[in-house]
Amino acid sequence: MLLFTQPAELKQYFRQLPPTATIGFVPTMGALHEGHLTLVRLAKQQCTVVICSIFVNPTQFNNPEDLAKYPRTIEADSQMLESVGCDVLFLPEVTTMYPTPVRTTLDFGDLEKVLEGKFRAGHFNGVGLVVSKLFHLVKPDVAFFGQKDLQQCLIIKQLVRDYSFDLKLVIVPTMRETDGLAMSSRNRRLTKAQRQLAPQLYKALQTAQTELQNGQAVQTVQENFTTYLHQWAAFRVEYFEVANTLDLQSVMHCTHGQEIALVTAVFLGEIRLIDNLVFTF
Ligand code: AMP
Repeated sequence: MLLFTQPAELKQYFRQLPPTATIGFVPTMGALHEGHLTLVRLAKQQCTVVICSIFVNPTQFNNPEDLAKYPRTIEADSQMLESVGCDVLFLPEVTTMYPTPVRTTLDFGDLEKVLEGKFRAGHFNGVGLVVSKLFHLVKPDVAFFGQKDLQQCLIIKQLVRDYSFDLKLVIVPTMRETDGLAMSSRNRRLTKAQRQLAPQLYKALQTAQTELQNGQAVQTVQENFTTYLHQWAAFRVEYFEVANTLDLQSVMHCTHGQEIALVTAVFLGEIRLIDNLVFTF
């Protein structure tokens, strides 16, 4: 696996690729786990070469402590990427990605006013900025994103459409631990006790789906979700919404055949976990 830190190195690499080669791209913030590797494996199957980036993007963190404490495990990450046949690891410095302060802002309209966008001011502006920069540098034919960050997937779809990025997006289902916890780089910050509790989040999502499909009212399902998790003092539900998968706006009534997303963010101690479930009503 080649390791590049400079855009010029990527440029040179592209020059020697055969014209028919297709580039698969997996952007990440590192602290890699099986979820990330699933994206890389899929990229390997679908493209000639796979480029993975690791960049903890400061502009998408609204909480400086979260940025400072974000796990950084480059050594282990590059071994994992090597083991799944990743061709290039792009590892830029902050000053490379942001040589001057960015003055442009992105506005995703209604999509950024709900869920993560509502609770993390400026988050999707930062995501949109860095993903645009990375798309320009890596010039992928196919880019792979995880459904775990469902709203991010819709934001990127909108970005690709609105800014005419000539690439295909592939959205990959959420990889979970055997107990149901969605894999996440933040999981490694959970204490042992918190880690034991963490699968209750997925359990609460599954219960909510069952309740909705049994005809319970959206508001009741929302109350039950919060009441269930709040039986443990360590949990604090930030939001839990029943939404339409097309635009992630909340729905108060599900209709037969509608694709529904149950989307949530909770604090477990000081660690913020997000998860979602998508199903057809
Ligand atoms: P991150 O490093 O958290 O920015 O994630 C990089 C990419 O991996 C994003 O597209 C995520 O949605 C995706 N990803 C993270 N966790 C998972 C998971 N458990 N299953 C599938 N994809 C994931």
